[in-house]
Amino acid sequence: MFYQAKRDLLKNKIILITGAGDGIGREAAITYSKYGASVILVGRTLNKLNAVKKNIAEAGNPEAYVLVIDLLSPDPESYKSAALHLSYKISRLDGLLNNAAILGDIAPMIQQNPTRWCEVISVNVNGTFMLTQALLPLLLKKRGSSLIFSTSSVGRKGRANWGSYSVSKFATEGMMQIISEEYPASILRVNCINPGATRTKMRTAAYPKDNPKTLLPKDIMPIYLYLMGDDSREISGVSFDAQCDCKSNTKH
Ligand code: NDP
Repeated sequence: MFYQAKRDLLKNKIILITGAGDGIGREAAITYSKYGASVILVGRTLNKLNAVKKNIAEAGNPEAYVLVIDLLSPDPESYKSAALHLSYKISRLDGLLNNAAILGDIAPMIQQNPTRWCEVISVNVNGTFMLTQALLPLLLKKRGSSLIFSTSSVGRKGRANWGSYSVSKFATEGMMQIISEEYPASILRVNCINPGATRTKMRTAAYPKDNPKTLLPKDIMPIYLYLMGDDSREISGVSFDAQCDCKSNTKH
């Protein structure tokens, strides 16, 4: 499937991206703003988020808003108060891209460090769930919102040595399926994107000797645009592969 987004695809939309300071989340935030969205940049490292905000401002795109949230936090109140804080600034949320994640140990189960295991589940599953839960009222303020989770091939079929990360992505697929069953697609559509091998800090940690020809985050943006914009209206409960399901010759 080839997808060419219209330049004003996301005009007047308010979209929150987690892990917006680096890698795929950074690229998605910059791309969404380029297509007209006002973006809320969420992450744990303020200076990285501010750098993305500056990049967006210099490009003349709608002003971005920075919000530091550490998804390692086990406290539901911290997510609720972040959502409350946002509700004073914005009347609704048109899209949420749950992108932030950590990798954990690449090691057999017998060697997975339990503390590290719990951190991966805390960030990739629990923090992502609590933030999503806190933001659902804002997403439901208007019909046709889009909720996207970030998955992986190891979240569909287990693979030796992928331990906590793989388990966290199985949970992500489950979360997507459950929420997509809870709302009609016309009100809230919920889907997953598996980016596939993409050159980022996480990919380098998993594959230090990776092929330099691995795609860059900008190469996989068509599916991120398609699922966030109105062209994907009525599509919900689907787990997409960025590098197979949606290609484009869009120049970014
Ligand atoms: P990166 O490691 O490059 O970026 C991850 C982002 O998440 C960073 O901005 C990071 O912040 C943020 N983050 C990490 N921990 C937390 C936390 N506790 N609270 C808030 N933010 C946090 O990863 P990618 O861009 O490669 O991955 C993006 C998504 O795509 C992930 O869900 C990943 O699992 C998935 N994916 C990636 C693939 C790839 O090949 N790259 C393949 C398959 C799936 P900071 O920069 O401050 O550390």
